[in-house]
Amino acid sequence: MEDMGKELSKRLVENKWEKKYKEIIEKSLKDDDVQLFLRENKDRLSHQEILKGASKLYEFVDLKQKIAEGKEVFAPGYSPQLTISDHHIEVTYVPTKKLIEERRLREINNRINIVNLPKSIRKATLENYYRDDDGRMIALKKAIEFVANYTETPNIFHKGLYLSGSFGVGKTYLLGAIANKLAEKGIKVTLVHMPSFAVEIKNSIGKNTTMEKVDALKKAPVLMMDDIGADQLSSWFRDDVLGVILQYRMQEELPTFFSSNIALDDLEEFYLTQNTRGELEPLKAKRIMERIRFLVDEVVINGENRRNK
Ligand code: ADP
Ligand code: MG
Repeated sequence: MEDMGKELSKRLVENKWEKKYKEIIEKSLKDDDVQLFLRENKDRLSHQEILKGASKLYEFVDLKQKIAEGKEVFAPGYSPQLTISDHHIEVTYVPTKKLIEERRLREINNRINIVNLPKSIRKATLENYYRDDDGRMIALKKAIEFVANYTETPNIFHKGLYLSGSFGVGKTYLLGAIANKLAEKGIKVTLVHMPSFAVEIKNSIGKNTTMEKVDALKKAPVLMMDDIGADQLSSWFRDDVLGVILQYRMQEELPTFFSSNIALDDLEEFYLTQNTRGELEPLKAKRIMERIRFLVDEVVINGENRRNK
């Protein structure tokens, strides 16, 4: 390399280039990556071609230096690389590991549609899920099984989970963790806080967006209904929204999850039967129950309240 540097310097003098320019090029030629590049390509580039590409070598070295010093560059997230194209030295830009990782995380995030739930749910992971109690261990095992089975055979029906247990045991956390794992594996998941969704749907009636909102839940590849049973149910929401969504998902065999403070066996009596006007509608409640039972296996999570810990 020493020789090549000398040879090039000689030619620079011969070409009567400006002193400044000569300095710049000499500096570029001292760079380790440039030297490696020239060594690796010594049979492909003549001295004349290297001199012609000197400004590219300088562009490469200069940008590398700016990135190393944390200065602002025109394409953040990309690092320069020297290549040869038809005997010309070129600088190409390749995404850095950091950028690739950021893109991967963004794609995962884009696969999860969160409706009316705190964004912090995106941080929930199966790996960090507490393992301190039998109920949680069973829930975790079933969650892992679901992810494995569904990703392996997405075209056959897999029952989702109905996570029941008292306030603060981590039901929403687990739904979020399953959603994140599925999204990592390329699956789209919609996670919706049901009591807020019921209010939103009611408010959307005059605005013509009701169908769209219902459709999004009906057709979500994987749907998770969080906190079902936590509000008072209107007949309209039960039959024309919940009923319609569940009917479609049952027919299409689309995986559906629930979380609730109410055990599955009590949902019919304590949530679905009595409407907001206080009327009892047991048959309609039964119909919804059948659909939910078709879609899920129940897992009861007991254990300590984890809120504010
Ligand atoms: P639930 O939906 O059953 O009422 P949450 O999922 O909201 O309970 O959990 C309550 C709190 O405890 C949340 O702040 C959540 O982030 C945290 N938490 C619950 N379970 C876990 C867990 N297994 N690992 C880590 N944090 C958890
Ligand atoms: Mg919850």
